[in-house]
Amino acid sequence: MPKYDTDVVVIGAGIGGLTIGALLANKGFNVIVVEQAPQAGGLCSAYKYKDYSFQVGGNILNGFELGGGHERVLAELGLFIKKTQLNIPFQIIMPEHRLNISTNPVELFTEFEREFPEQLADIKDFWQYMENLEETFNELSRNKSFCSPQSIKEKYTFFKQIQQPLNKKFSDIEKSCIPIMKGSIAKSEFKRLLDVICFFYTRLPIEGCSRLFFSYLLGIIRRGVFYINGGAQELANKLVEYIANNRGVVKYNLQVSNIITAGQKAVGVKLANGKEIKSKYVIADTTIWNLY
Ligand SMILES: Cc1cc2nc3c(=O)[nH]c(=O)nc-3n(C[C@H](O)[C@H](O)[C@H](O)COP(=O)(O)OP(=O)(O)OC[C@H]3O[C@@H](n4cnc5c(N)ncnc54)[C@H](O)[C@@H]3O)c2cc1C
Repeated sequence: MPKYDTDVVVIGAGIGGLTIGALLANKGFNVIVVEQAPQAGGLCSAYKYKDYSFQVGGNILNGFELGGGHERVLAELGLFIKKTQLNIPFQIIMPEHRLNISTNPVELFTEFEREFPEQLADIKDFWQYMENLEETFNELSRNKSFCSPQSIKEKYTFFKQIQQPLNKKFSDIEKSCIPIMKGSIAKSEFKRLLDVICFFYTRLPIEGCSRLFFSYLLGIIRRGVFYINGGAQELANKLVEYIANNRGVVKYNLQVSNIITAGQKAVGVKLANGKEIKSKYVIADTTIWNLY
């Protein structure tokens, strides 16, 4: 029997790694999070220069609304974080249009009406279609566990339980939104506005994004967008503290060079300094390009 140093090694102390680390610590697992940087947070961290604090990346966050991902995690861990809901998370400036993207649908449609008056009816139809698609998806996927990459059976279950009924009602959910745009909106400035929203989240124009995923992106605006008081680093700090208070540890300035395997199983990590940490499970909050 191999001797383990810990139950779980999590590679990377980004929000993803810290969240899974804290949830596992909450369930009684011993967790070691290994981070190559001198601080936690990854793309949600901040650094100080003189008297200023610079946010590295994500700060306009969703998932803190009631029932949202972060909100559910924080509730499960019994943590509280101060945040501010942003009524107008974005203003989009185009050569001939300038709109506040409000989370309030009445205000949002006042903006659409002012900027795209001739297309308003078609825009409303489009918006409603996307809203229905997202709500139906949420309804179908609620309380279902799916998409484990190891299990073809689960993937099939996902297909049967969600994709098939969705496609029956909405059809071609994996294709782009262009074919469901009525009238002239597919060739209009409004379509360019949707491209901006799509590009912001995915780096793709709307043609490159599935209908289902784009309905989720528009849903972010509707569900609410938040700023964590003090910046997203605060969330990382809370999770680090939680892990430390629950028999876990976050180790900094340590780079994982590869995952150690025994047969088909991951049994630990090898660090760039040559040391090894043996564990029953390994979770990587990184891409494969960060490891091999
Ligand atoms: C400029 C910018 C703006 C953004 N704005 C938003 C926004 O407004 N709203 C939003 O929701 N999202 C936003 N995002 C995206 C969001 O920040 C990320 O999706 C999220 O932080 C990713 O978290 P993660 O834990 O998956 O990965 P990461 O934050 O990338 O964490 C991975 C961690 O693993 C560590 N690591 C990698 N390889 C190794 C290794 N071999 N050994 C040890 N450690 C390793 C890294 O140092 C890092 O700390 C933005 C991103 C950027 C870049």
